[in-house]
Amino acid sequence: RAKAQGRNAFMFYQQEMNAHAFELLTLESELHRALQQQEFCLQYQPKICLRTGKMTGVEALLRWQHPEKGMIAPDKFVPLLEESGLILPVGQWVIEQALKDYRFWQSHGLFNLNLAINLSPAQLKDLKFIETLQSALAKYKLPMQCVELEITEHTMMIHGENSFLLMEQLRQLGTHFSIDDFGTGYSSLAYLKKLPVETIKIDRSFIRDIGVEVEDEIIVKTVIAMAKSLGYQVVAEGVENLKQVDFLRALDCDVAQGFLFSRPLSALDILQYQVQPETLPH
Ligand code: C2E
Ligand code: MG
Ligand code: MG
Ligand code: MG
Repeated sequence: RAKAQGRNAFMFYQQEMNAHAFELLTLESELHRALQQQEFCLQYQPKICLRTGKMTGVEALLRWQHPEKGMIAPDKFVPLLEESGLILPVGQWVIEQALKDYRFWQSHGLFNLNLAINLSPAQLKDLKFIETLQSALAKYKLPMQCVELEITEHTMMIHGENSFLLMEQLRQLGTHFSIDDFGTGYSSLAYLKKLPVETIKIDRSFIRDIGVEVEDEIIVKTVIAMAKSLGYQVVAEGVENLKQVDFLRALDCDVAQGFLFSRPLSALDILQYQVQPETLPH
């Protein structure tokens, strides 16, 4: 009986697995279609300078406007893009679209924004990456300086050494790098100091518990103090309330990003965006 039960469990497991594999396969072929049919789009989340209270930049965030399922978040499909190798053409599309939107903002009088783009490990290993970025910049007549590349701490830990030369070259050409989701990857600032990185983005899991967990507050405090004394610019992600803003300002954190200031917006809505005064009280 136990044996039969075991077998049933196994068959059930196998059916589940097949269903899962089938779903992944379907999704993957849908992703090919998505690229061809232009179902991807970008939203932009403002980054706010905590000193001036102004929007200093935006982060481009990928969305999939699925014809039946509606808007799909990147956590659901970026891993599949990475597995299937589609991340390279999609990543190229992201760069092109973001620069096009940047040009659109400029033509409407919005200048000096910093445009942050998220990079996957495969893009960091792509020998054509510099060429791809440069030709997109040339197409929209934009300088390398307007682009900031976000790489997660996790990616940096695994691929940092191999990507060092590419990053060095890109920095020489004028782009900036930031470490995304900092604090989740168990790396040390001492290790990261070897990489050509200007900015540290503290992961929102630490920001979330400001005013809730003393331990998280201590971590945030320590990371900001250390990062700043090593010369990094510090960004806090996932800022949702005024308590967090107060705390971060007291620590001289440079930039904040989160739902308190704005959810990710369309390129058009970025033009209209104004920091609400009540989000940064005197
Ligand atoms: P990320 O780069 O850390 O982006 C920040 C994520 O936090 C975004 O989720 C954003 O919507 C969300 N967020 C911002 N403020 C708040 C807040 O106050 N509270 C909460 N709860 N969440 C907030 P999103 O857009 O779903 O993106 C998830 C991840 O997908 C990104 O994390 C990034 O790693 C990846 N991703 C997005 N776009 C791209 C892309 O073009 N290429 C690659 N390779 N990865 C991308
Ligand atoms: Mg990011
Ligand atoms: Mg992040
Ligand atoms: Mg994140």
